[in-house]
Amino acid sequence: MNLSARKKMLPFEKAFEIVLNSARLLGTEHIGLADAANRILAEDVKSDIDMPPFNKSAMDGYACRRTDLANELAIIETIPAGVPPENVIGPNQCAKIMTGAMVPLGADCVIMVEFTKNPSENTVRFTGKETDGNICLKAEDIKVGQIVLSKGTLIKPQHIATLAAVGCANPCVAVRPKVAILATGNELVEPSQSPAFSQIRDSNSFHLAAQVETTGAITKNYGITRDTKKAIDSAIKTAIAENDVVLISGGVSMGDFDFVPDILKQNGIELMFEKIAIKPGKPTVFGFSKNKSVFCFGMPGHPVSGFVMCELLVKPFLYRLMGHNFIPLEIKMPLRTSISRKKAGRPSWIPVAITDEGTARPVEYHGSAHFNALCAADGLLCIPKGTAEFKEGTIVSVRRI
Ligand code: AMP
Ligand code: MG
Repeated sequence: MNLSARKKMLPFEKAFEIVLNSARLLGTEHIGLADAANRILAEDVKSDIDMPPFNKSAMDGYACRRTDLANELAIIETIPAGVPPENVIGPNQCAKIMTGAMVPLGADCVIMVEFTKNPSENTVRFTGKETDGNICLKAEDIKVGQIVLSKGTLIKPQHIATLAAVGCANPCVAVRPKVAILATGNELVEPSQSPAFSQIRDSNSFHLAAQVETTGAITKNYGITRDTKKAIDSAIKTAIAENDVVLISGGVSMGDFDFVPDILKQNGIELMFEKIAIKPGKPTVFGFSKNKSVFCFGMPGHPVSGFVMCELLVKPFLYRLMGHNFIPLEIKMPLRTSISRKKAGRPSWIPVAITDEGTARPVEYHGSAHFNALCAADGLLCIPKGTAEFKEGTIVSVRRI
């Protein structure tokens, strides 16, 4: 990519397209169900059985014929779950049956035990008015051979239940990307330290690692690197050698000590862009090595900027590396109070709380250094390019964080 194109401030949509289209799958592996939560399926999963595998009683009760419901019925056997019935139900006969047991041939309904009485030890009468059958029909949920989960699915607890039920005990999933996190800055100290005058604690490397881990990726926090070319070069070399993705916080802007883009280039990373037309998050850098063995993001140092760009760009990219098409949860709701801004040249993301009445209320927010504003927020909303004001009551989309 030529220099002028790279230095140009890209519309976010273009930057997003470049980032996502550059992703490649890293590989697959088989894992146990106990480790499957939050992983991405790498193949379609078919069922090896019908579900239910047989006509199954949904209730504890008596299996019988609907035509006999007005009569006293002879109880001919008891059918526990897991034991096949021995008899066919004939006229004025029934079998006592447990939830989950196989419904015997001849029966077309199960009457709930709550709606019965026993005139004698071996007979029963229906005391209800009608029954909706209480039989889960064979194969009504899943048919043998049916694809129940498709490649690219993010595995949640409900998917684990399905995998288990259809016999997929060792699903094939995408390999988790290894993601390095580096924080650059002479002003930074560890959270456990007391900052001296002109210092602040490194918060970015920790929130970035936590955000990345929500995708299932594996992080390694390389900690703080000083703003010297030598220190940054050495940290980037190590991170590139050991990981699939490298996130470098800070040092990507216009300051005298913002060396990151040049050092990435010196290390064989071709930069695709160095600025995005978005607020916050303008100084965001992205590139990759020739054979795509490693992908690098230069993340803006301001904490809210880094947080927002990680949500909007890095997380969807990490999911794409695993073959998952990430679609953020966005909820439409009216705006509680009007919001306005002076400059409308870039789309702008602002933190909002979701009120009990289901409206979006902007939280107090002083700009991209004000990270604790995000703690009061439930989501982010985007004021599009060219829009200076959203009036109270406007229907907005809130992207959950
Ligand atoms: P930079 O992009 O390096 O110019 O940093 C922009 C702003 O973000 C400065 O005010 C930094 O002090 C702040 N900053 C940079 N890195 C971090 C970090 N790791 N944690 C918290 N704040 C940071
Ligand atoms: Mg800096």
